[in-house]
Amino acid sequence: MTNLNVQKRYKSLIRSAARASLNSDYKLPLGAVIFRGKRILATGWNQNKTHNYASQYMEYPYLHAEVDAILSARYRVDLEGTSIFVVRLLKNGRLAMAKPCPHCQQACNDVGIKRAYWTTDTNYDEALITDMLLAQIP
Ligand SMILES: [Zn+2]
Repeated sequence: MTNLNVQKRYKSLIRSAARASLNSDYKLPLGAVIFRGKRILATGWNQNKTHNYASQYMEYPYLHAEVDAILSARYRVDLEGTSIFVVRLLKNGRLAMAKPCPHCQQACNDVGIKRAYWTTDTNYDEALITDMLLAQIP
């Protein structure tokens, strides 16, 4: 990454999503922030509880961080054109792979989230949701 301002902005998004993940009661805690520009619109974390909304996407409808963030935002903000950053923070403080699963990619797409960012074991990665969905086609 060459643009330091961009990097700083991502650092603050990662920090916010990591903070959200601390609320998780899941064995692999994940946090997510939905954002537009510099503004965070919603946060979420994965949870060991089921939810009707999640059941339309998942066979075992435990709340993933992405869907939790969508649920907390969808009645108060238009999510069209927004982005999501998903973070997995390990107990030792290191970041780890948090790529949205196929169900969450679909859930993001359905509410208009256009781009996903996620931490990896070494850095972070990003992709357009539509490209991620296309990659699922065998
Ligand atoms: Zn998921």
